[in-house]
Amino acid sequence: MQGHAASRATADLGLLARDTDGVLQMYVDGRFVPAADGQVRAVYNPATGEAVARVAEGGPEDARRAVRAARRAFDEGRWSGAAAYDRAALLLRLADLMERDADRLTRLETLNNGKPLREAELDVADAVRCFRYYAGVCMQPHGQVLTVPGPTETYTVREPVGVCGQIIPWNFPLLMAAWKLAPALAAGNTCVLKPSELTPVTALRLAQLMDEAGFPAGVVNIVLGPGDTVGQTLTESAEVDLIAFTGGTATGRRVMQAASVNVKKLSLELGGKSPNIVFADADFETAVDHALLGIFFGAGQVCAAGSRLLVQSPLYDRFVPELVERAKRIRIGDGFDPDTEMGPLISEAHRGRVEAYVDAGRAEGAVLAYGGERPGSPARGYFLQPTVMLDVRSEMRVVREEIFGPVLVVQRFDDEEEAIGMANDSPYGLAAGVFTQDVARAHRVARRLRAGIVWVNTYHPAYVEAPWGGYKQSGIGRELGTHGFEEYTEVKQVNIQLDVQPSGFYRR
Ligand code: NAP
Repeated sequence: MQGHAASRATADLGLLARDTDGVLQMYVDGRFVPAADGQVRAVYNPATGEAVARVAEGGPEDARRAVRAARRAFDEGRWSGAAAYDRAALLLRLADLMERDADRLTRLETLNNGKPLREAELDVADAVRCFRYYAGVCMQPHGQVLTVPGPTETYTVREPVGVCGQIIPWNFPLLMAAWKLAPALAAGNTCVLKPSELTPVTALRLAQLMDEAGFPAGVVNIVLGPGDTVGQTLTESAEVDLIAFTGGTATGRRVMQAASVNVKKLSLELGGKSPNIVFADADFETAVDHALLGIFFGAGQVCAAGSRLLVQSPLYDRFVPELVERAKRIRIGDGFDPDTEMGPLISEAHRGRVEAYVDAGRAEGAVLAYGGERPGSPARGYFLQPTVMLDVRSEMRVVREEIFGPVLVVQRFDDEEEAIGMANDSPYGLAAGVFTQDVARAHRVARRLRAGIVWVNTYHPAYVEAPWGGYKQSGIGRELGTHGFEEYTEVKQVNIQLDVQPSGFYRR
């Protein structure tokens, strides 16, 4: 079964646009093209460490080409000026094609990212929903008629910003592409999307589906290559009007600086170190289960991971042993194996970073309750055991910094006030979880948490209808929902004098 799915994924790769040497091409101005300087790089399956494909490795010239194509497509006005109905029709068509191709997209995501098929399936379904949702949003009325004290008719309209540079990470390659492209296109912008160089495969399949759906040339461009050349060129380009970036906070700072060149509009979805608070009155099974899901989904490589677990004292000695026992039973393996519950980390280098955090935590006095080791099986690939660290203190690096791996740090608290203080004691503010059966407490605590997303008695659901984004150093702006659409628009007021006459402000 595992081998069957994996070999089908290899066959799926064969569908992607390639040159005569088998190198996968990027998508610029409605054509699949090689890198301007002919560079090529390999991409890998993190579950085996094997190269699965070779892709065009773009550079600054490729980024500039893509920006020129997007600029032309925007300035011609055929996309931005198209009826919302026509833009929506194409987004719906694309969603249908993605649904037709859902199994293939799922396999390709598992092949290139390593995540279990069941996680990739969720991503594909959410990506399809994202395009459908924004097809609906773009047909809604977006302006307002204002009541002003004067003989004027005053109203607002929302217009596309222009050319959007969109930069995404490797943890949800297809879903992040959908979160970026769907609202931007719905609003009438043109786009240059740069996937992570580690995981370009599903974005390239998406480009083919967009081509098949009939998006006009230049409206969507997928340019491959490293962040410090291709990404940097996009963020610095005076021809780009908006940068939408998802990635780490340190990179976000660099993006912010580069984007200041022409005062671009900017949205940043950055890192997190999200607290998950379990009160003693929580439903025990639900809280244990979601604490595991909060940190081990995606092998912890999730911006909103519930990586800091805060457990109230009366429950601590029952909760933590159960959590650790359950963590030990999580089945680690190749994403194509239907029994796999947790996949590998994205790369050898990233696993090394996560392991270094485990070592740093131990050196600072944390107790390793479980994990921190490479599992004996699978023997290949970048796997790491689910890891739980106890006796941590707030000033430790493992508590303050984003690890972005399957490492949970657990702290004890006595009362609500202390829990809120500990939860908010972070430079990040992306998400938080609260487990309690006391409705008033749930609302009280949710209000006081400095985070863009608060889950109560659950962890991780992300709905396209609801805004996504962080407080503090977790980012600027919001994705998803109508807020996500508005990020990709400019607001214009139009003011029409109804009683047409001179102002009389100066003598005639
Ligand atoms: P990263 O290293 O910051 O990279 C993110 C993207 O930025 C990649 O495409 C990268 O290109 C590109 N990049 C790197 N340097 C750049 C530069 N100077 N200018 C422009 N672009 C540049 O992050 P990552 O390791 O891929 O992803 C993990 C991080 O993403 C975590 O911190 C996680 O919390 C965050 N994240 C946040 C959200 C959210 O919604 N808040 C969602 C998912 C992930 P390369 O191809 O060279 O890597």
